[in-house]
Amino acid sequence: MFLMDSLIRRCAHGVPPEVGIIARDEGIDAATVSRAVAQGRIVIPANPERQHRLCAIGEGCRVKVNVNIGTSGAHCDPALEEKKAQAALDNGADALMDLSTGGDLAAIRKKILSLDSTVGTVPVYEAVRRAGNAADVDADLLFAVIREHCKQGVDFLTLHCGVNLDALSALRTDPRLMGVVSRGGVFHCAMMVQRGEENPLFSEFDYLLEILSEYNVTISLGDGMRPGCLQDAEKLAKSVEYITLGRLAKRALASGVQRMIEGPGHIPLDQVGYNVRMIKEITDHAPLYLLGPIVTDIAPGYDHVVSTIGGAVACMHGADFLCMVSPSEHLALPLVDDIIEGTRVTKIAAHIGDTVRRPEGYRTEREVQMADARRRLDWEEQFRLALFGDVARRIHSRDGEQETCSMCGDLCAVKMIRELFEGDTKKE
Ligand code: SF4
Repeated sequence: MFLMDSLIRRCAHGVPPEVGIIARDEGIDAATVSRAVAQGRIVIPANPERQHRLCAIGEGCRVKVNVNIGTSGAHCDPALEEKKAQAALDNGADALMDLSTGGDLAAIRKKILSLDSTVGTVPVYEAVRRAGNAADVDADLLFAVIREHCKQGVDFLTLHCGVNLDALSALRTDPRLMGVVSRGGVFHCAMMVQRGEENPLFSEFDYLLEILSEYNVTISLGDGMRPGCLQDAEKLAKSVEYITLGRLAKRALASGVQRMIEGPGHIPLDQVGYNVRMIKEITDHAPLYLLGPIVTDIAPGYDHVVSTIGGAVACMHGADFLCMVSPSEHLALPLVDDIIEGTRVTKIAAHIGDTVRRPEGYRTEREVQMADARRRLDWEEQFRLALFGDVARRIHSRDGEQETCSMCGDLCAVKMIRELFEGDTKKE
């Protein structure tokens, strides 16, 4: 049974109120946003169980940033995760994903859901926790957990529907150095191998759509076969999964379920554009959510910088939603400072993407005003306009207050050329 009040169906017949809000925020014509939602090119994940700041993801919208938080079995401190979630929002995160696997998962999720943010989860994590191991997760348990997350008010769910027997076969035909690095991907592989059955999220996809439709929850079609190192970027499993996701994306849209697609993890920089365009093409231009991309494997400790480089290039080619990578990536559960640093650099990647994909491009008032403030050596104005003015102020203040900065001191090129031209003006 599909409810007739899904956002996709309402957008097909007009401009719902929430679309009007998004259109004003994004500076896009409301009818255009409505049409893009109806076509599945923009999603607005918003579970009716909760009220929160809306976040539109997709074509023509500003690039959005998600921040993952969550406990693990090795480090379970729910209060710390709440602090990390708030720090992410304070530094510009547009969405949060609670990936907790340690402690009282429903209680932790309740706290995160009380924040003014779009929230996503990965239900298979909880299913594995409850079952004790991945092989003991059956379809009934998995769908029960999915329903609970929907009921509790989660806005979007990452579900690895494309990790099916076909993708598993591709993994065997064309083995990869790192195998599978997605947690959800590995869980579903274990379920299929040890139970000898198809992934229920794939074989019972219509039933899954019924649940999501009932609660108006958005599906994020997970990339469980994303490459885990550059050496695996051109192996078969990833492409097989994408083709499956393309098929499932069409079925979701036809059922009125909002959907987005998750994209590659570790890929060389020159393959980023191709991958983004290929996924967009085979998924009817569904919103694309990227984890990274990580474009070199030898910079642990700086993977937030690595993924910012990959993320900016991906946005230039059409990626819509970036998942924050912190300095702790591949090393440890992030701390609050890691979340702040990771969120900030990911916001910068998203903004760089906007400077080439938004209609106004790089000619925004803020970019123009910053250039003018730099020309005038107006430091206060520069701090006001900067994405993170607190850091700019701290660094500038190291050498005390002066007209120029301490980089060139009395040989300041900006000051010299300004005086030179002002002198020309006076002579005239
Ligand atoms: S001192 Fe050098 S770096 Fe600083 S504002 Fe002038 S030209 Fe730029």
